[in-house]
Amino acid sequence: MKEKAYFVNVANFIWLVIITFIFNSQMKAQELESNEKNLISNQEREQNIMTKTDSEWKAILTEEEYRILREKGTERPFMGKYDGHFEEGEYVCAGCGETLYTSQTKYNSGCGWPAFSDGIEGKIDESKDISFGMPRTEITCSNCGGHLGHVFKDGPAPTGLRHCVNSVSLDFKPKKDQE
Ligand SMILES: [Zn+2]
Repeated sequence: MKEKAYFVNVANFIWLVIITFIFNSQMKAQELESNEKNLISNQEREQNIMTKTDSEWKAILTEEEYRILREKGTERPFMGKYDGHFEEGEYVCAGCGETLYTSQTKYNSGCGWPAFSDGIEGKIDESKDISFGMPRTEITCSNCGGHLGHVFKDGPAPTGLRHCVNSVSLDFKPKKDQE
């Protein structure tokens, strides 16, 4: 009886080792797969930024969109189509269609441009801008590099941020259309 019990234990132990080994190698394969997927999408992302020439952008953007998105222009305050716009939905990049902001973070700042207390994580890049002798933080679409506006630290809680964005840099997708 003792010997039988010993063999059962050994057999169980061997099974455990085999199962653990199989499980681990599957986990590793999955990790590798998801890393590769990330690499591909990063490559595509870089291609998106790098490969569009000025004339290609001119062909797909209106004159005003080109001036603001690609030449870092600014629309006139209080004139933009999304300044006083508070419907539920998502705001996407007018250049590439990437979703950048949701209506939940949009608020009425009174500054004359659409204002958001935060962007969707990872979708917006920040860089130093010292044009016009004013040190500011420029915000751009992380997918296509399109100029959105600037971010200031006078926004509402919890972020304390004000993403001041040109309406021209955005397109709006109402909530009911998102299904
Ligand atoms: Zn974009």
